[in-house]
Amino acid sequence: MNRLSDIGTIKEILSRYGFNFSKGLGQNFLINPSVCPRMAELSGAGKGVGVIEIGPGIGVLTRELCEISDKVVAVEIDKRLIPVLDETLADFDNIKVINDDVMKLDLKKLIEDEFEGMKVVVCANLPYYITSPVIMKLLEDKLPVEAITVMVQKEAAQRICAEVGSRESGAVTVSVNYYSKPEMLFTVSSGSFMPAPKVDSAVMRLDVYKEPPIKLDDDKKFFTVVKAAFSQRRKTVLNSISSSLALEKNVVNGILLDSGVDPRSRAEKLTMEDFAEISRRIEI
Ligand code: SAM
Repeated sequence: MNRLSDIGTIKEILSRYGFNFSKGLGQNFLINPSVCPRMAELSGAGKGVGVIEIGPGIGVLTRELCEISDKVVAVEIDKRLIPVLDETLADFDNIKVINDDVMKLDLKKLIEDEFEGMKVVVCANLPYYITSPVIMKLLEDKLPVEAITVMVQKEAAQRICAEVGSRESGAVTVSVNYYSKPEMLFTVSSGSFMPAPKVDSAVMRLDVYKEPPIKLDDDKKFFTVVKAAFSQRRKTVLNSISSSLALEKNVVNGILLDSGVDPRSRAEKLTMEDFAEISRRIEI
């Protein structure tokens, strides 16, 4: 068994390095031994596969990924964890740890440099404070990755994995569905972490499309329309779009009708194709 998920071992290692958890960096380390093997296996990591991990912490998930895949590159922002990872991952020669902020890294270049000729997947227990920005960066950068398997707050996973057009959906649901097919894998209780966060978590996998499911000439415009439509969830799509984009109501009304969308509907009722049709017609 991976001894790094044992709470006694974690405490011993961290106290030896004088480490204290940073709330600001979203440091909640996994102490439930059943989570990492399951997550690693479901991520698509394996023979011939390279893995990018974001935020390895002390390396509990990293070890599982190193066991089953050809190469792992882990990006950790906290330099205090680098000597810890040198120790906890010492028995693997297929790991590279990069001390950097994932939001600032050129991940396309990293993949070219580190994973030539390999299939690539992402697998990470993400820091909560940047869940959506990290996911959107991974998708918007159009990286050559097959799948992104991440642990996030349960509510965030439920929102992302909701059906487009259902009450639970939001702008992030539509945006993620443009690039990938999201699937909820399993939930993880807050007691599985040290320190325990206030809310439960969930692991989801995004299977990245080679080609988006809808054809657009201008995907930026599509995302602007989606954000505008969801900007005031309780209002009609007519009011949200016109006020958020400062457009005349009668103009937006005409565009919605021409797109086959009832101007009185709420954004959560619209389909991907509805948003696409509006973005093809609107001038912004
Ligand atoms: N993978 C470990 C585990 O499951 O126990 C730790 C996960 S912890 C939720 C998030 C990790 O992400 C921490 O190690 C934190 O230092 C790191 N982190 C936070 N912000 C980061 C960033 N912008 N870039 C890279 N790593 C970051």
